[in-house]
Amino acid sequence: HHPWVFSGAIHRVEGSPGAGGLVEVVDCDGDLIAWGLFNPHSQIRVRLYRWPMPTGTEAERGRDAAGALDGAFWRRRIQAAVQHRRGLGLLDPAGACRLISSEGDGISGLTVDRYGSVLAVQFTSLALWQRRETLLHAIRDALPDCPPDAAVLRTEKGILEEEGLEIRDGILFGELPDGPLTIDEGGVRFGVDLRIGQKTGAYLDQRDNRAAVAPWAKGRDVADVCCYTGGFALHALAAGARSVAGVDVSAGALERARANAALNGRSDDLDAGRWTLEKADAFRWLQARRDEGRRFGMIVLDPPRFARSSRGVPQALRGYASLNELAVACLEPGGVLVTCSCTGRVSRERFLSVLAGVEARTGRRWRILEQRGQPADHPVAPTCPETAYLKCVVATVE
Ligand code: SAH
Repeated sequence: HHPWVFSGAIHRVEGSPGAGGLVEVVDCDGDLIAWGLFNPHSQIRVRLYRWPMPTGTEAERGRDAAGALDGAFWRRRIQAAVQHRRGLGLLDPAGACRLISSEGDGISGLTVDRYGSVLAVQFTSLALWQRRETLLHAIRDALPDCPPDAAVLRTEKGILEEEGLEIRDGILFGELPDGPLTIDEGGVRFGVDLRIGQKTGAYLDQRDNRAAVAPWAKGRDVADVCCYTGGFALHALAAGARSVAGVDVSAGALERARANAALNGRSDDLDAGRWTLEKADAFRWLQARRDEGRRFGMIVLDPPRFARSSRGVPQALRGYASLNELAVACLEPGGVLVTCSCTGRVSRERFLSVLAGVEARTGRRWRILEQRGQPADHPVAPTCPETAYLKCVVATVE
């Protein structure tokens, strides 16, 4: 029940399905495997959404595709996804959560984050983009208790090449408030700017990890590498870090981090140098700290995705190896390393084997305190291992 059928797995296309059209995927005997949506432009030639039940009524088992992926089907899927978040208590009016998580919710190609009354919507499938009216209606209908005022469309680089989907960031409905939205995450506040052209938002997938590792920061000098808008850094300061150094390559992210410091009454920490923000490349920055002999009691590594496809995996593994090796060189003996990987194509097992290599090469023993993943609003589907994309390993390094 993996939802992706790659072009190379298809023996023959019968008929002439159009881009985004409904297709039946059948096995070599002509027996139905599943219903999906076709995209001749994509390596993921068919995304599968529905499998016939082995038992059930004739209609459920039948080969009549007509109603397989109709409006009612999408409404049921979306209702179920929203109901899951409601059950988690994540729909309070001022809260933020991932409302729909693509393959994790059986809706491959649609991701929706909710920031209070504003939705940030991402389409990574041409076929679902074509069905956006139906999907957006279904989402609004599923939220009678906290109706969204607006939805913004967010796009990802490379989507045109991958899906043949030509879309730009913009408003899908409603109007955005003027300034940034403010969200509260365990007592730490963050401004989230969803205006057009500013591809920001927040990394909601690290929410539980930020809270879980913060206590380790107490009394330590902390480096938050790839700090974005100061997520781990602000939690570390709140938990009593001695100092925090935030590093990111994006000037816009650092600007927002500065604003977030003010939002939390932490401008003094910046002024007094207890918190520094630096625009730099993570690798070069760590190298420079290593060479000048600077050591930290805790380092957080939260780099962006290193590979989009399986072809990029070897290079991603080398990237993780060198980043972690540099971090270990900057960590005082017994320091805490929080090392993350959000590359779906790199499994937890492979990530751990990279860390084992780092241990072997540096001669510094790791003791893993905790192996963390993603929060419950970013569900993992056992049939799609790539949904378990976030690895967060917390370890002390001798
Ligand atoms: N830790 C953050 C999320 C980090 S997302 C949080 O909790 O909110 C990854 C970040 O890495 C992005 O902000 C991106 O700008 C930054 N980044 C990408 N490439 C980088 C590089 N080479 N050096 C430093 N930062 C980089």
